[in-house]
Amino acid sequence: MFGLRKTLGSLFASNRLDEAWFDNLEESLILSDVGLPTTDQLISKLRKAAKSEKAASPEVLKALLVQEVSSLLKPLEHPLNPLYADRAKTTPEVWLVVGVNGAGKTTTIGKMCRLFQTQGKSVLLAAGDTFRAAARNQLIEWGSRNHVDVITQESGDAAAVAHDSIHAAISRKSDILIIDTAGRLATQDHLMEELKKVKRVIGKALPGAPHETLLILDGNTGQNGLSQVKAFHMALGLTALIVTKLDGTAKGGVICALAHTFHEGTKPAVLALGKGEGIDDLVLFTAEQYSAELFN
Ligand code: GDP
Repeated sequence: MFGLRKTLGSLFASNRLDEAWFDNLEESLILSDVGLPTTDQLISKLRKAAKSEKAASPEVLKALLVQEVSSLLKPLEHPLNPLYADRAKTTPEVWLVVGVNGAGKTTTIGKMCRLFQTQGKSVLLAAGDTFRAAARNQLIEWGSRNHVDVITQESGDAAAVAHDSIHAAISRKSDILIIDTAGRLATQDHLMEELKKVKRVIGKALPGAPHETLLILDGNTGQNGLSQVKAFHMALGLTALIVTKLDGTAKGGVICALAHTFHEGTKPAVLALGKGEGIDDLVLFTAEQYSAELFN
């Protein structure tokens, strides 16, 4: 499970509140990918509080830290399906899923599929990673696990698959269409151009779509993760992120860094967190729960 218990446990349990205590806390936050600007903001709030009588113990400061991070991240919360709830159910909700190879795209799509199904919605998947046969097969596998069809093409590009899948979703009256994409990092410019094209084609096939453009981000990638978010956001205008692999990291602070990465109003939100390889290992993001887990 993610969180800073190992590094911060003794710090919060100690009785001494001195310069070294704040230095250690600062270092731990930076090491867990919280990022410099966010760390500075948190440390200066805690220092101020420590000067007042009421918050002069590590235990009280811990509670304050949890609360501060929770309110910092509150604006990043992203409810599931706000659009879906508002729209007449005549066309599918279209989700475009992007991210670099290995981040957990296909696995997350499998988990989201399950989540939607538990809400009684019908799902259709599209295998838009036309470069890797393995990626297509993996998506087909997740589809069969969920008893959901997967639109694929033997040859043809991602845009053609996306176009096909929208028409298939409309004619089948699917509630949700989730489109997987390629994620070759080595050729980032080409990748972004290709993804932009996929997005344009989706918009032409169904005006207003995609309704969500989701980046899947490996929660262990630290500062490199932030540059991924920036690059994808600039090219595609992300609506939200899903941060994966938070079960296997002693870090997990990257979401805190996001709070200071974008201007107000242009931040991509956080929809959910991946906490394992299983089909049910996806939890919707809430700032309060994330913050509590990060420091517990
Ligand atoms: P893709 O290339 O982006 O489609 O990534 P995959 O979905 O193939 O995932 C890459 C690897 O990460 C696989 O071995 C997954 O089982 C694993 N993975 C994905 N999400 C999680 C997660 O939340 N926790 C853990 N521990 N592993 C994950």
